[in-house]
Formats: sequence, C-alpha cells, structure tokens
Amino acid sequence: AIDNGGNQALVYSADMSNREQAWVAMEAALRQAFEQDQFQMYYQPQFDVTGNQLIGMEALIRWQQADGQFISPAEFIPVAEQTGMIVNMGQWILKVACEQAAHLYQSGLRDFVMAVNISARQFQHPKFLETVARIIDESQIDPAYIELEITESTIMQNIEHCIEILQQLKSLGLALAVDDFGTGYSSLSYLKRFPIDKLKIDQSFVRNLGSDKSDLAIVRAIIDLAHNLDLAVIAEGVETEQQRAMLEANRCEQIQGYLISKPMPAAQAVSFVNEKLKR
Ligand code: C2E
Ligand code: CA
Ligand code: CA
Ligand code: CA
Repeated sequence: AIDNGGNQALVYSADMSNREQAWVAMEAALRQAFEQDQFQMYYQPQFDVTGNQLIGMEALIRWQQADGQFISPAEFIPVAEQTGMIVNMGQWILKVACEQAAHLYQSGLRDFVMAVNISARQFQHPKFLETVARIIDESQIDPAYIELEITESTIMQNIEHCIEILQQLKSLGLALAVDDFGTGYSSLSYLKRFPIDKLKIDQSFVRNLGSDKSDLAIVRAIIDLAHNLDLAVIAEGVETEQQRAMLEANRCEQIQGYLISKPMPAAQAVSFVNEKLKR
C-alpha cells in the first residue's frame, strides 16, 4: 500500500466515490423503509431429501418499495451490514421469525426448526447473546425450534471467541447451522470444536450437480464430513429432480429449494403448513 500519512481515502477516492455515494443513498433509503414498514419476512420450507416431510423453514427478509418493486437482500443486506443497521434490523428479523415459529407451533407443527440468518456484524455485537436470549424469552418459543444460520466466513473470524459465543447459544437451547458451507476457508481441525448441529451446502455447488464432476465431488465430501462429525446436512438451491435424486443417492438428508417451494409470505407459509398437517 502507498503511504500517504494514513489518509487511505486519498488513494481510493477516485474509484470509490460512485460506490460510496450509492451506499449513502441506499443507507438513507433503508432507514426510511424501516420507518415505513416496507420490510417483510418470507419463509421457505425445508424438507427431508425424499420431499415428504417438512422439517423446517428459513426466514428470508424482503424489501418491497412503495411502487411495489422488490429490492434483493443480496443488495441491501451488505449495506445494512456495513453501516451497522443490521444490528437493529437483525433484532426485528429474529423477533418476527420467533413469533412466526410460535404461531406454527400453535397450529400443531412439531419437529421443525425456524432457521434465521445472522450476519457477521450482528453475531460479533457485544450484546448479541443478551438480545437473542431476550427475544426468545419474549416470544415464548422453545429455543430448540430456532436455528441460527451463521455463515462459514463469520465463524472462521476470531475462532476462539466464536466458539465461546456458539457454546453460549447452545446452552440457551438453540440449534446452530453453518450457512454457505464450502465457500469459506474452514479449517477442518477447528470445525470439530464448533458446537454446531448442521452444515448447509452452498447452492453454488448444487446448481451444476448433474454436469460438473468437481461440484459432485465437493458435495460428497461435505456430506461425508458432516456425517463423520455427527452433523446433519442440508443442501440449498435444489431446483431439479435430478439434483434431489443425486443428493439422496449420496445420503444428504435434507433439501431446500424451488423444486419444493419458493419463499412465501407469512400467511401463505401458515396455509402451507396447515395443508401438510391435514394429510
Ligand atoms: P442465503 O442465506 O444463502 O439464502 C438462500 C438464498 O437462495 C435466498 O435468496 C433464497 O430465496 C434463494 N433460494 C432458495 N431456493 C433457491 C433455489 O432453488 N434456486 C435459487 N436460485 N435460489 C434459491 P434471498 O432471499 O434473495 O437472500 C439472499 C441472501 O441475502 C441470503 O443468502 C442471505 O445471505 C441474505 N439474507 C436474506 N434474508 C436475510 C435475513 O433475514 N438476515 C440476514 N442477515 N441475511 C439475509
Ligand atoms: Ca441462509
Ligand atoms: Ca446459504
Ligand atoms: Ca448465500
């Protein structure tokens, strides 16, 4: 790096300015959206690999602007993360998802998890544990029904501290899944020290399962790793019967993806569950 007396901005200002301006605008829009209740949680079912049994739902945030247009979380979550807004937003997400889980429980659903995404910044916040404990308590859901999805790259930062936080989350009774597994740089020797329950195979490996031999090899390796560590394993982004069948043949036990259902609004998720319970 060029030494300019500590003024990094000087070096980057020319190419950062456009991006920075876009982020500042996005941040303002996010704050306003929050005040105007433009955020909503959607829920995507998770199934056992045969597709017969509903085993959970993943809560996914949606932002619908006043004109009806949706902005992808892949666009705004990184901004919320960078600006720190994700801390408040994440509390709201967890609260809404816990309430939805309590609602599904009251409808008669059992043996399921409500999976909630936790961003790195949220996870690293000093009050994270306290906040999670309070929200779980207030929603009166058995914490065993809540699964926190933490990405592989999040848990690989500051490993010792991370293990401690995960242990405390486990002692609160929560389930823990490692999201986007295979995309980070897990040290396998550390992995066995994490008190986790599940690995979630990233959809980038599932997408070309039928055509790409190395993706198949990676998926197999993750499934075997999970089983050897006594962890459950779920594949995300399952869109075709061929992908599902290959996952089943390789003993992956859980799937999530458009093949079974897209994420849907709360009311529709409740009807979906009620339909399942009737059968
Ligand atoms: P993710 O946690 O890896 O979530 C999986 C994404 O894959 C979701 O996109 C989901 O809608 C999409 N998906 C599910 N099944 C399929 C499929 O069969 N095919 C394809 N192509 N995609 C599928 P979404 O909802 O747009 O979210 C994108 C990312 O934004 C998430 O990736 C996550 O990193 C972040 N995100 C979304 N909601 C939340 C949230 O509530 N909190 C946090 N911290 N991050 C969130
Ligand atoms: Ca996720
Ligand atoms: Ca994922
Ligand atoms: Ca992802």
